[in-house]
Amino acid sequence: MKRRMRKVTALVLSVGMMLSMTITSGAVTIDEAQKKADELQSQKSAAQAEKDTLAVKLNSIIDQMNKTQEELSAKETEISTAEEELVQAKVDEDDQYNSMKKRIKFMYEGGNTQFLEILMSSSNIGDLLNKAEYVSKLSSYDRDMLVAFQETVKAVEEKEAKLKDEYEKLNTLQTSLVSQQTEAQNLISSKEAQIAEIQDQITDNANLLADLKAKAEEAKRLQEEQAAAAAAAAAAAKKNNSTSSSNGSSSSRPASSGNVVSGSGYFTHPCPGMTYQSSYFGEVRSFDPRPHKGNDYAAPTGTPTYAAAAGTVITAGWSNSAGNWVVISHGNGLVTKYMHHSSICVSAGQRVEKGQQIGYVGSTGYSTGAHLHFQVELNGTPVNPNNYM
Ligand SMILES: [Zn+2]
Repeated sequence: MKRRMRKVTALVLSVGMMLSMTITSGAVTIDEAQKKADELQSQKSAAQAEKDTLAVKLNSIIDQMNKTQEELSAKETEISTAEEELVQAKVDEDDQYNSMKKRIKFMYEGGNTQFLEILMSSSNIGDLLNKAEYVSKLSSYDRDMLVAFQETVKAVEEKEAKLKDEYEKLNTLQTSLVSQQTEAQNLISSKEAQIAEIQDQITDNANLLADLKAKAEEAKRLQEEQAAAAAAAAAAAKKNNSTSSSNGSSSSRPASSGNVVSGSGYFTHPCPGMTYQSSYFGEVRSFDPRPHKGNDYAAPTGTPTYAAAAGTVITAGWSNSAGNWVVISHGNGLVTKYMHHSSICVSAGQRVEKGQQIGYVGSTGYSTGAHLHFQVELNGTPVNPNNYM
């Protein structure tokens, strides 16, 4: 009894240790991973908001660039118009100059040849006008016309210069807009890279979180399973102790009447009421490096178990590993073993028939859930039970 309690305590302790180890694996807890997920999400939202602001700014720059481009095109048209005007003004000025020279030449033909020479040798209109200041007989009409044409040329030249200046300013603005655009685009690219980096971290963290949650679930499930098994073992041990002290038999429940035989083999199935076969002969299970020595039949606690064949009960009682177990000898070196019963209803020395009830399924001894471990041995060596069924 004391031994059983110690075992149960040790089991609960080891499961508890396993549970805390699993949840904190890699020094990250579920809470920490969840907190990190929230932080990353808010970082991503902030970066996204910054990127959106930059995109708005970029759009406004592009709008401004389009507007400036339109103004530049309009300015180019105005400049070429002004250039054409200037050409025309210069042509008009030249025509006036030439016709004036002809008239002056005619007026002074045969007269003041010195003046005529001065006039004809003028290098340009300005020079001529300066010289003409001294020519009292020069027609005031011609002089006024020439001045008017010259002023036109000057005005058009000024207009053209002003347009070219405006064009240069627009051009400078456009150049600066282009570099602003490049800058905004670079900022957006780096913001996108930052968002992608945060997204990677979010994905990694989500995987970690899912992993931690799955491990915690598994540990919890295992703990509940082990606690249930430990409680059942403790209860069965207590029941076994109390019954064996009163009448020396491990039986606590009456056997159901009548033999239960299934199949046509030498052996009948020892637990036809099973839910499913949870383990097979020869199987290597994760918790035990040795091949399994029998078949495990998972069944609800209390499901009847039967002698596989007629024989003599060699053992009916308690084992630390097999729990409440029954061993039946069938002669010629063939023996069957039935383990982990919640209670048994035969006693050592008793003769049993094929299909006679020997006990009830339980989870006593080294067991993690209610099942019947059915083992067949020939001359002391475990063999496959299916060979006889
Ligand atoms: Zn087993």
